[in-house]
Amino acid sequence: MPADWAYAPAPESTDIVKLRERYGLFIGGEWIEPTETYETISPRDEEPLAVIGQATEQDVDLAVEAARGAFANGWSELPGSERAKYLFRIARILQERSREFAVLESLNGGKPIKESRDVDLPLAAAHFFYYAGWADKLEYAFPNRRPQPVGVAGQIIPWNFPLLMLAWKIAPALACGNTVVLKPAETTPLTALLFCDVVRQAELPPGVVNIVTGDGRTGGALVEHPDVDKIAFTGSTEVGKAIMRRLAGTGKKLTLELGGKAANIVFDDCALDQAVEGIVNGIYFNQGHVCCAGSRLFAQESIYEPLVEKLKRRLETLRVGDPLDKNTDVGAINSKMQLDKIVDLVEAGKAEGADIYQPPCRLPEKGYWFAPTVFTNVAQSYRIAQEEIFGPVLSVLTFRTPDEAVEKANNTPYGLSAGVWTEKGSRILWMANRLRAGVVWANTFNRFDPTSPFGGYKESGFGREGGRHGLEPYLRFDE
Ligand code: NDP
Repeated sequence: MPADWAYAPAPESTDIVKLRERYGLFIGGEWIEPTETYETISPRDEEPLAVIGQATEQDVDLAVEAARGAFANGWSELPGSERAKYLFRIARILQERSREFAVLESLNGGKPIKESRDVDLPLAAAHFFYYAGWADKLEYAFPNRRPQPVGVAGQIIPWNFPLLMLAWKIAPALACGNTVVLKPAETTPLTALLFCDVVRQAELPPGVVNIVTGDGRTGGALVEHPDVDKIAFTGSTEVGKAIMRRLAGTGKKLTLELGGKAANIVFDDCALDQAVEGIVNGIYFNQGHVCCAGSRLFAQESIYEPLVEKLKRRLETLRVGDPLDKNTDVGAINSKMQLDKIVDLVEAGKAEGADIYQPPCRLPEKGYWFAPTVFTNVAQSYRIAQEEIFGPVLSVLTFRTPDEAVEKANNTPYGLSAGVWTEKGSRILWMANRLRAGVVWANTFNRFDPTSPFGGYKESGFGREGGRHGLEPYLRFDE
């Protein structure tokens, strides 16, 4: 057997992406020159990629005005079957240009190209296809409730799945006859800006989709704007709470998709090797920058040792490095700020007494990197077992009985997702009924589908995205 199984480099070319030096704000179908700007970089090498607009209150005002105009002047009156045509067109263009989008997503956000290519892009297109199908069937989705569009939706998204979160937000909003102003995250604006090209290519009426880039101040201005009818936010629990406070009493509709600290529960009767793959996918997918990441592993005591041993061995085979290499499993951490947060929590884990394991791996010198990490000997009170790390860091805890597993899994302020690994169907149902989590995966993890609603309990937020449920936040009902 060869001793060296090293992979040859397999870099994806970036030639397909034609970046502009500078991007404006996309308002009313036009590029508006911003008064303030900042630079967006690639987290893999800290190289600047483009100059981006920092939208001011006045810019947000213009964008909302454009969205209101488009809403009033035709879009909301358009038959659903006509709106569907635009959504189908967008979906098809995303498929046609998927390589270009995937490369740009990895370049700007740091995620491995195989994930942006095989997960983000197909799912983003699928979301537009799915909601295109609903656009002319709203009366059937909500019989006798006379569904009407809400108006102008302000949408604020994070940096972990930039294009996919855009699709989750824009597709149902447009299907229901709303117009939107969307703010991408400060660190990952580029695929949203490329999406403006798709909007034009699909000949969507000007003002139906407006993209304003910038930091939290831009998001704040959108939240505060009096002519926005609905806010959809995905991001941290802290900012979600602040938004909720600001909207209290305004009558604006609100959905919040916030953080998580999911339990991935492994029983001793499960297929252990499959569970190990599920655990790895649960926490190291997208560098752990996943709100529903399985960041707390609960292993039944009887299999704790073989499970941890298999997991450590599997970790040694993960390839960490250039996001644009097709062999890479774990890419770059999205930003310096996020890297600092991960380092801080990992240091806290060590100081509190947990045992750390990181496989030997050579991290690139430039850019933001963090090796896949497993903590064992973790107590439930440790910060690494309580707080969302949002990085490639797993905490392993144990349990003896199903009751204990449920109690420990639910011992968190969050409630977004959970995983159960067992061969017994009855146990899966028993657990799913007791876990306070919006999504419970059985013998799998991090599976997404546009037809399936996604959202949280407790501090993970409220409202659902995806499925028929995902239409409701974008509708009012004249009952
Ligand atoms: P934020 O919640 O700050 O960012 C989410 C979005 O909200 C971004 O577009 C952000 O802009 C915007 N925003 C920030 N402040 C405001 C505000 N006051 N009003 C309106 N919009 C605002 O998340 P961070 O990027 O700061 O990440 C911090 C932590 O949050 C992470 O470490 C992680 O734990 C968690 N997180 C959870 C996510 C999830 O899906 N559950 C997603 C992202 C982060 P800008 O990018 O400029 O800050």
